[in-house]
Amino acid sequence: MIKGQIKDIIQILSSSKHIVIVPHKNPDGDAMGSSLGLYHFLKYKNHLVHVVAPNSYADFLKWLPGDDMVLNFEQQPETCQEKIEHADIIFTLDFNALHRAGDELGRTIQASKALKIMIDHHQQPDDYAAFMYSDVKMSSTCEMIYNFIEMLEEADLINPEIATCLYTGIMTDTGSFRFPSTTSRTHRVTADLIEKGAVNHQIHNAVYDTNSYTRLQLLGRAMQNLEVLPEYRTAYITLSQEELDTFRFKKGDTEGLVNYALSLKGIIFAVIFIENRQDSIIKISLRSKGQFSVNEFSRAHFNGGGHTNAAGGRSYLPLQNTVDKFISILPEYKEELSQ
Ligand code: 5GP
Ligand code: MN
Repeated sequence: MIKGQIKDIIQILSSSKHIVIVPHKNPDGDAMGSSLGLYHFLKYKNHLVHVVAPNSYADFLKWLPGDDMVLNFEQQPETCQEKIEHADIIFTLDFNALHRAGDELGRTIQASKALKIMIDHHQQPDDYAAFMYSDVKMSSTCEMIYNFIEMLEEADLINPEIATCLYTGIMTDTGSFRFPSTTSRTHRVTADLIEKGAVNHQIHNAVYDTNSYTRLQLLGRAMQNLEVLPEYRTAYITLSQEELDTFRFKKGDTEGLVNYALSLKGIIFAVIFIENRQDSIIKISLRSKGQFSVNEFSRAHFNGGGHTNAAGGRSYLPLQNTVDKFISILPEYKEELSQ
């Protein structure tokens, strides 16, 4: 779905503008890849561009070209507010509702008079942007940034930096090209990005083969905590704050753990519950295979959302109570889960 006219955007971008790009809170590979890919493109087009990340992100993304230019709203609120106040255009990338940038940053964007452009692939997007490119069928926001640059008739300008950023987000959001959202078009875009300078094996290595010893030990503990509910074809993992502390948890260390639960033979619904004492929440990641919508499940029970097969959420109950609540809900879904 596209709301607004691309020819208007081409016209607006034909002279130098102050532009701010915002990914969602706790930005992942797709959020940072799309933000920095677009950043390099707009810089090349002589705009004054800033990426404002709501908070920090995992070390395995800290090598992305332009990473050193990213502003952090949590750490530098005044600088970020000032950039947003001076912005002619704000791009919001890889999220569907302003609160997903964090409450305060979301309100700041809402209050800004800048032209807002949303590019995103999450379900049920809010209608806050003048120009909106939203498509839940897309593998990633990075693939959409590629399409957006193509709509601007500028695909020739994609350089190795842009290609590297966009490749990274496509790779991480498709689980390395294995999720059903990976289409022949995704592979064509990816092939073009490789031709334009993305070095695929180096990117894979930088993201996936830079584990710390303690992260692998944490993975071991998570696997010990794995529980299976065969009658619901469901598996879940818990990690308490104490366990995270034992293995010197750092941001990004729990990324992807839920997929191990989903890799069990016969399992179609997998969840990880991660205690976060600082924020007094249990962070929940939900994944599924096939028709079962974890977006709907998380929206209905765990204050979250996302996509059909990948969603996030949170609980304000203690860890064990959250798990008990989860188990008590499953009978409602028995039929869907046994299909
Ligand atoms: P994760 O489990 O990795 O945090 O999130 C999985 C997917 O769901 C990601 O695409 C993420 O952006 C999305 N997501 C996570 N939490 C929320 C949420 O609270 N609301 C919505 N709409 N999407 C979410
Ligand atoms: Mn994404």
